[in-house]
Amino acid sequence: MDVNKVRGMVIGVRQSGDADKFVTVLTRNKGKLTFYAKGAFKPKGKLTAATELFTCAEFVYSSAKGLNVLQGADITESFYELREDIESLAYAGYFSELADSFTAYKVNDEVILVLLYLCIKELLRKVYKYKHIRAVYETGLLRFSGYISDFSSCDVCGNATEYIGMEGGYCKEHKQVQSIFVNKPVLKAIKYICESPVKNILSFSLDEKYLDELCAVNDEFIKDIIPYKLKSRKFLKDICND
Ligand SMILES: [Zn+2]
Repeated sequence: MDVNKVRGMVIGVRQSGDADKFVTVLTRNKGKLTFYAKGAFKPKGKLTAATELFTCAEFVYSSAKGLNVLQGADITESFYELREDIESLAYAGYFSELADSFTAYKVNDEVILVLLYLCIKELLRKVYKYKHIRAVYETGLLRFSGYISDFSSCDVCGNATEYIGMEGGYCKEHKQVQSIFVNKPVLKAIKYICESPVKNILSFSLDEKYLDELCAVNDEFIKDIIPYKLKSRKFLKDICND
């Protein structure tokens, strides 16, 4: 039986029987992995804390017959403070469920893990508005998953972009049926998010009305990629009206 170690963050938790859990972990170098964690649903189980949603840890596991069994974990960050603030918890829950929906198993998604980690940290720092963090996280996720680029010029003629869609950016003349009109400040923000290194990705400002516009564009794109409703998205709407 092989014993492996991997660093990552818990992005999904599901109860199994009375006492056990299956946890989904977005890892640094092995994509997304699911671990079976025996006894982790018990309040004082040895794996209970390490298998809470958002926990970052080095996970030790063995693999046999296609099942990864969690043996232990060394927690580096629990993000426990999220539990003390229902709004940041609602955003963090949505961010992690969205990451889970966007990432395939065993594909190296380290940059998505970094983006998720940074955005959850920012929810607690409270420097940026929640809506700003949400807009950046969604656009960043679309970028790093390869769905969008910076839309800097019309795909047909090279003139300035005014309309965008998952298929590309267009001028007024060449817009496609499903293209969405976007104002210049929103296009500039998308360009910034699509070009900056992940560590600086939040460092810009955008007026509230344009943040709303960027979030509405993201909602349209995400609806095309994930045809089902995320539970955490509904929760976010109920709690924060966002
Ligand atoms: Zn054009």
